Amino acid sequence: MSDSKIPKGPTMFNMISSFARELKTYIANGAPNVTTEDYIERLDACDTCEHLLRPQIRCGLCGCLLEHKAKWKTTKCPDNPPRWKTQIIDGKGQESNNTNSSNEIQPTSEEGGADSKSSV
Ligand code: SF4
Repeated sequence: MSDSKIPKGPTMFNMISSFARELKTYIANGAPNVTTEDYIERLDACDTCEHLLRPQIRCGLCGCLLEHKAKWKTTKCPDNPPRWKTQIIDGKGQESNNTNSSNEIQPTSEEGGADSKSSV
C-alpha cells in the first residue's frame, strides 16, 4: 500500500552491526563528542539528505540513529562524498580511526578533568 513510498533502509542486522562498530570505535577513542556547532551542522546536513529515514531519524545508508551518531566525533557520514566535515581526533582525521580494531578503552581527559579550580 503506502509502504512503497517509505525508503528502504539497511536490514536490522546491518543496522545493529554498523551501530556496534561505531560504538566500539567511539569508546576505543575515549568517547569524544563533536562541538554543539558541529552537531547542529551535521543534523542540518542530514535534514536535507535524500538518505535520511525521516520517520525513524536514521541514516538510510548505515541505519544508525542520527541523534547519537552525529554527536560522536569518531563517526563519519557514509555517503560518497561525505556530507559531514572531517573531524580531527588526536591530530588525525577521523577516517583513520574508523578502521581502528583496538579494544583498549581510554579514559576521557575532558570529563571532570583536573581543574585548578577546586572548592574555595
Ligand atoms: S548519508 Fe550522511 S547526511 Fe545523509 S542521512 Fe546519512 S549520515 Fe546524514
